[in-house]
Amino acid sequence: MNEECIREIVQEELQRMKEEAADITAALEPTELCVVCRKNVGTLYLEADKSICEDCAQYMSEIGNELSL
Ligand SMILES: [Zn+2]
Repeated sequence: MNEECIREIVQEELQRMKEEAADITAALEPTELCVVCRKNVGTLYLEADKSICEDCAQYMSEIGNELSL
């Protein structure tokens, strides 16, 4: 195995590790803020990138209950 070949393998390995690190970073991105109040962190997902906090979820379910009465 010559030096050029080793370098190529190392480069590929480094590239692969960088991509993996990017995936992990994306997964650890801070949670988005609640789409309703924009103050609390949204813990309940409405859609892929829309989340609401528990306070707003509670509030909305209360409104929902009132409307259905
Ligand atoms: Zn909220």
